[in-house]
Amino acid sequence: MSDAWDVVVVGAGIVGAACARECATRGLRTAVVESSGVGSGATAAAMGHVVLMNDSPAQFALTHYSQNLWRGLAACLPADVEFEQRGTLWIAADEEEMEEVRRKHRVFAASGVASEILDSDALAEAEPHLRRPMTGALLVPSDVVLDPSRAAAWLMEQAVRAGATLYAPRRVMSTGAGRVQIEDGAELHAGRIVIACGAESANLVPGLPIRKRKGHLAITDRQPGLVRHQLVELGYLKSAHTVAADSVAFNVQPRRSGQILVGSSRQYGDEETAVNPAILAAMLERAKVYLPELGECVLVRTWTGFRAATPDKLPLIGPWPADATVLLATGHEGLGITTSLGTARLIADQVMGARAEIPVAPYWPGRLFSAQAHVTRDSETNMEGR
Ligand SMILES: Cc1cc2nc3c(=O)[nH]c(=O)nc-3n(C[C@H](O)[C@H](O)[C@H](O)COP(=O)(O)OP(=O)(O)OC[C@H]3O[C@@H](n4cnc5c(N)ncnc54)[C@H](O)[C@@H]3O)c2cc1C
Repeated sequence: MSDAWDVVVVGAGIVGAACARECATRGLRTAVVESSGVGSGATAAAMGHVVLMNDSPAQFALTHYSQNLWRGLAACLPADVEFEQRGTLWIAADEEEMEEVRRKHRVFAASGVASEILDSDALAEAEPHLRRPMTGALLVPSDVVLDPSRAAAWLMEQAVRAGATLYAPRRVMSTGAGRVQIEDGAELHAGRIVIACGAESANLVPGLPIRKRKGHLAITDRQPGLVRHQLVELGYLKSAHTVAADSVAFNVQPRRSGQILVGSSRQYGDEETAVNPAILAAMLERAKVYLPELGECVLVRTWTGFRAATPDKLPLIGPWPADATVLLATGHEGLGITTSLGTARLIADQVMGARAEIPVAPYWPGRLFSAQAHVTRDSETNMEGR
């Protein structure tokens, strides 16, 4: 294992798997070291909503870029990835939220993204089982759902097919100066080391400004037809500036099996993997407010996962200022399934010295360490439900 590689990717969640695939298919000698199984971290806990988000121009740029890359792959994805263009309905429960529907619609229109404002009746027709009356919704038809673990597995299979080597399960103990130390004493040497360890990234990169943000999800028994689109409430706007508090939001997804994924929650400061009964209960109560029939469904499984949260709600993609051999591909919080493919492109561009297709500065890790670094606190609230 003491080979020299162009790139060693540490972590084989969806981000690391995507980076490995992108690097290997561009001809880079690529190794991946994963401490557990492929797609077993936050990726296994996620909903798999590949969603356009526009809380900031940089967030929109990366989600739009990445969603287009997912769409480009759709024809190659195996059936078990369950890629489906379901579309998202952003639901407004009152006039204040309807104003946000109109704002989102304007922003998407200005960027050439199709969306449609639904009034109360049109929403009831689109989703007959939602509580009535709702004020309306924004339909974003381009949004997709998929199975994140299967997608990560496929990306890694593609990486290996393109020549990458996967070392798993093998824990990386330390990295730096082009060296990757593995738990069994082995060492890999690489031109570039890509840290893609999600919420665990700070273990390898001391000083990394990443906090764990716990989330809960549940899945029901088969309920074919109960939900047609990904449904997300816009109600989080009312709980603005609650960065420190635990929060829940209505966010449900129809799976191909007919089951419904029910989310979601956000918590700082709880690093236990166990389901918190109070948070779970609050999340389910919130969901029943929007979708009363959920109360009659059987929950077949509940679980938690940890998002990797940065102070300014944007991921860290690019060089780590303290070590020229280290590239970061982490901090994707609630959007890493969506943005994995865009992240992988930007990382491979970096390694190869190629020009990126979107501006990279907003994701550059150095932004959080410059004198001008500022934290856009107001965007803290705009990710609820993810
Ligand atoms: C409840 C919930 C719902 C979500 N829903 C969505 C959604 O609908 N859409 C969306 O876009 N995003 C969603 N997300 C966010 C998404 O899950 C994450 O952003 C994404 O999975 C991050 O992927 P990753 O590869 O960076 O991290 P991970 O999937 O956590 O992968 C990191 C990998 O690194 C490995 N690792 C860690 N340390 C080491 C080490 N020292 N050596 C070797 N390997 C190591 C781990 O074993 C793991 O496999 C959700 C998250 C949660 C918690």
